[in-house]
Amino acid sequence: MTSTRIPATLIPGDGIGPEIVDATLAALDALNAPFEWDRQIAGLGGVVAAGDPLPLATLDSIRRTRLALKGPLETPSGGGYRSSNVRLREEFQLYANLRPALTIIPGGRFDKIDLVVVRENLEGLYIGHEHYVPIDGDPHAVAMATGINTRQGSRRLLEYAFDTAVATGRKKVTLVHKANIMKALTGIFLETGLDLYEKKYKGKFELDTVIIDACAMKLVLNPWQFDMLVTTNLFGDILSDLVAGLVGGLGMAPGANIGTDAAIFEAVHGSAPDIAGKGIANPTALLLAAALMLDHVKLPELGTRLRKAIDETLNIDKVRTGDLGGTAGTAAFTKALVSRIHGG
Ligand code: NAD
Repeated sequence: MTSTRIPATLIPGDGIGPEIVDATLAALDALNAPFEWDRQIAGLGGVVAAGDPLPLATLDSIRRTRLALKGPLETPSGGGYRSSNVRLREEFQLYANLRPALTIIPGGRFDKIDLVVVRENLEGLYIGHEHYVPIDGDPHAVAMATGINTRQGSRRLLEYAFDTAVATGRKKVTLVHKANIMKALTGIFLETGLDLYEKKYKGKFELDTVIIDACAMKLVLNPWQFDMLVTTNLFGDILSDLVAGLVGGLGMAPGANIGTDAAIFEAVHGSAPDIAGKGIANPTALLLAAALMLDHVKLPELGTRLRKAIDETLNIDKVRTGDLGGTAGTAAFTKALVSRIHGG
């Protein structure tokens, strides 16, 4: 293992964020992961401390480290704040969102799931070009939204997905679209993907295409027919939550936001205000995000050890938090996990 320290920004976040971040740090410490953390605030914590959900010091830190592990952030309703998560994606051009879904606890409704959703993270209907048209005194008589997908944006995301498919030995990539209705907006993504595959990736894996609505049905009927799904922003947002549901819910779903200027790792779930401070949150999703972060910094052997220890804690020791039907709190789960990492 390398002894070089790797500077990384740590954002504990809101709600259960600090609890699951503590658990994740305990596991990373047990692994001797060489991160040199720069602790920063964002979300509600940022508003309270600095009057901004994304304070300058936090942005500066990520600019310097180009790497972050973050807990969930709450966007305060009212006050006109934009989502800190969307701002982070734009600021650091985090154009790819990678969400692997892997069954860890066997015997659920869907067993042996192993698929990856790659979502375009910057374009489409998320660009925030929305407005109302007032008519006859009704200020909200008409609502309009504009989506923008570009050839260049589609291409870099598709290239990232296809390269990841090759690097991780995926046999099939399914491009999800709605080009039958949104002929330009999602047609450009489909067209770019087919062209790129033909010119650069043909023979390296199988490429399939499916319309989003059919994809949703197929995922519920037979998710095993898929290997990697690649799609535009809104469809990816919805499908990645659907896929998280196939492997036991949000508590088990990690996400990586990969960009040209930085990479930010997080759990897919939010700040869970209903259970914050109760010591019962499941830290697995953030732990799995930390494993993705270890892979990203080219320490995959540590990522593999972390995943193995999580598997053993859940399946051999059967130490599980309440959302997984168990009785363990966050601290008891973390203790069992750390002991597994130490080889106990
Ligand atoms: P949520 O994901 O926080 O919670 C949904 C449900 O899942 C709740 O019942 C919660 O208790 C449970 N849950 C979530 N994570 C869990 C865990 N690790 N262990 C056990 N149970 C868990 O969704 P929400 O309530 O819609 O959102 C709360 C806040 O989080 C909102 O302000 C939202 O904007 C924010 N949010 C942030 C992110 C992010 O930072 N990436 C993502 C989604 C939501």
